[in-house]
Amino acid sequence: MNFAIPAHVQEIAQFVRKFIDSEVIPLEKLHHTQLEKNRDDHDVLATQMREVQEKAKRAGIWAPQLPPELGGMGLTISEIVPVFEAAGRSMLGPLALNCAAPDEGNMHMLHLFANAEQVETYLRPLAAGKIRSGFAMTEPAPGAGSDPNMLQTTAVRDGDEWVINGHKWFTTGAAMASFLLIMARTNPDVPTHKGATIFLAPIKSPGIELVRLVPVMGEDAAGGHGEIKFHDLRVPHSAILGKEGEGFALTQARLAPARLTHCMRWTGIAQRALEIATEYATKREAFGKTLSEHQSMQWMLADSKIELQAARLLVHQAAWMLEQGSQARTETSIAKVFVAETVNRVIDRAIQICGGMGISRDLPLSEWYESARAFRIYDGASEVHRMVIARSVIKEYGVQ
Ligand SMILES: Cc1cc2nc3c(=O)[nH]c(=O)nc-3n(C[C@H](O)[C@H](O)[C@H](O)COP(=O)(O)OP(=O)(O)OC[C@H]3O[C@@H](n4cnc5c(N)ncnc54)[C@H](O)[C@@H]3O)c2cc1C
Repeated sequence: MNFAIPAHVQEIAQFVRKFIDSEVIPLEKLHHTQLEKNRDDHDVLATQMREVQEKAKRAGIWAPQLPPELGGMGLTISEIVPVFEAAGRSMLGPLALNCAAPDEGNMHMLHLFANAEQVETYLRPLAAGKIRSGFAMTEPAPGAGSDPNMLQTTAVRDGDEWVINGHKWFTTGAAMASFLLIMARTNPDVPTHKGATIFLAPIKSPGIELVRLVPVMGEDAAGGHGEIKFHDLRVPHSAILGKEGEGFALTQARLAPARLTHCMRWTGIAQRALEIATEYATKREAFGKTLSEHQSMQWMLADSKIELQAARLLVHQAAWMLEQGSQARTETSIAKVFVAETVNRVIDRAIQICGGMGISRDLPLSEWYESARAFRIYDGASEVHRMVIARSVIKEYGVQ
């Protein structure tokens, strides 16, 4: 594999980094106020975010992952690695560039599988940043979670329509979403992975109940995590994304790259955490010298640097394999586990280095610490990815 990042991509990543530092990071304070439920500031933030999005479009850094015909930069998955990391330096950065989860993964899926009408109705406005979306797969117990084969939501054909009933939760972005991608079982007579289908439906459809936004730890830049019930939701046959029964196959196409893009964005946050820790350590003194002159502090900085470097290389390798046409199942799992756990460790060390300041809300570290915890669970818990990796180890050994 070729590890070189082309010069033009390095330039884009540098530019995005400057853009995030100068245009987006200043908005983080407004975001905090919004989280404290100050409505006026919420509106101010929304307006400012729209302005920043317009600036990103004018600067030619809108939607790095999308093809030019959808208004994007047309970068390949390898090329977006450093660009998404730069965007990920702020939790608001990916939103500013329209490469945030879950929209980014949903756009990828729609780009691959949507028909012409679905492209116009859903993908184009999503790509333009005019609307948002949600991916409704996970269900409360006893439904689909780590094991998607436990899917309980059903869709039953009735003439030209389908009638959907079920209960989902953790549909990220539900508060802002205009439409949902809904995974439902359409054929109970075959194994779930062959009998599930994805439907597209406006979130305001009769039959969709947004029960609540699940209260979670950590910051929320995405629009909450919705608990949703479907009560005889009627959608036309044309609401199917791809083909009936292919829901799981489509999901596979979404999940592998979406896992990596999560890794890229989170690497940006971890890198910034390391920078914050380094700044504090070089300025703060204790016992007659700066913290950065104490060896135990140096080791923490070094360990974070080592792990971040390895994390980036694992993401690059998996991205490169996807580009070669491989499903890269083991490699994306390896990257997901390592990056999710690295990000948690790097932020944890940064807090330790910054002492009480690290715990305070004056720095973003404590917020990232809370948010990063979920990354070891969503898009596959670390244990599930280790199961996938172990299977490949055992298979390589010659046992099926
Ligand atoms: C912040 C956040 C955002 C999310 N966004 C979305 C979204 O937009 N759309 C969506 O559909 N879902 C979303 N999810 C749901 C997420 O994908 C699930 O939480 C995840 O798949 C785990 O499912 P579960 O919560 O049901 O855990 P469970 O399946 O109940 O598993 C609980 C724990 O059991 C362990 N475990 C499970 N399987 C194994 C195994 N084989 N071996 C060993 N241990 C195992 C793991 O430690 C796991 O964490 C989100 C979750 C979070 C926290």
